[in-house]
Amino acid sequence: MDTSNLFDLTGRTALITGSTRGLGRAIAEGMGQAGAALIINGRNPEATEAAAQELRDAGLSARAASFDVTDEAAVEAAFRELDADGVEVDILVNNAGIQHRQPMVELSLADWQRVIDTNLTSAFLLGREAARRMIPRKQGKIINIGSLTSDLARATVTPYTVAKGGIKMLTKGMAAEWSAHGIQANAIGPGYMLTDMNEALVSNPEFDAWVKGRTPAGRWGRPDELIGTAIYLASNASNYVSGQLIFVDGGMISVL
Ligand code: NDP
Repeated sequence: MDTSNLFDLTGRTALITGSTRGLGRAIAEGMGQAGAALIINGRNPEATEAAAQELRDAGLSARAASFDVTDEAAVEAAFRELDADGVEVDILVNNAGIQHRQPMVELSLADWQRVIDTNLTSAFLLGREAARRMIPRKQGKIINIGSLTSDLARATVTPYTVAKGGIKMLTKGMAAEWSAHGIQANAIGPGYMLTDMNEALVSNPEFDAWVKGRTPAGRWGRPDELIGTAIYLASNASNYVSGQLIFVDGGMISVL
């Protein structure tokens, strides 16, 4: 077997949701450098176009597709627009997500629903549209972004943990239904990473010390540290891997 191009994404198109900043942006940059053409997504059209432009300025191929991942009609319309332009999504990264911290007894149904819709239902909506197009082509890679909370509960973030636990089983469901069609679906579970989502936690000395003490690596993760795993799961290197959740967490999930 020739392994020289095993991780090469040249000729593939990757749609990464929530890629205007944070982990999605890092994954997009990494996949772009590995050769993929990028479709950048976020809710804000200007910010999405600006992110795509920055990636083009860096010599990568990138277009913007701004839509809300919780909006079924908008997700379907985005895929129809890609169809009309002859763009086929080879790699889908369901990354867009939000956090919401509140004790469950104070939580409104609307906030519960918003967190579930953004972190979980979106992956079903995007995955369904992508797979409808990948199945006839008999190829495709789907990467869902889970979390440590795909496996572990944590007080005050229950809807998030329910959504991320759901991501784990949605990934297995996708693998069960679509592996026979040449599609591999896997998930990545990041640990505590330095992004906007964790801004308040990083600047809280107690929480910062807890993360560093609780993580065997002794530090927060950098967004670029997800890139290798994302490229692996998007490339031919993982063609017989499906339904897995890989933690990229400095060892945190493995220790008490
Ligand atoms: P950020 O808050 O830094 O970025 C979130 C991205 O998602 C932005 O691009 C945002 O753009 C987009 N987004 C949010 N809601 C929507 C929506 N409804 N439709 C489209 N885009 C949306 O988050 P992170 O980069 O930290 O997190 C990315 C993913 O990684 C999330 O799923 C998160 O749960 C997960 N994760 C993060 C960890 C961490 O430590 N940071 C740890 C484990 C998992 P805009 O607001 O403009 O729409």
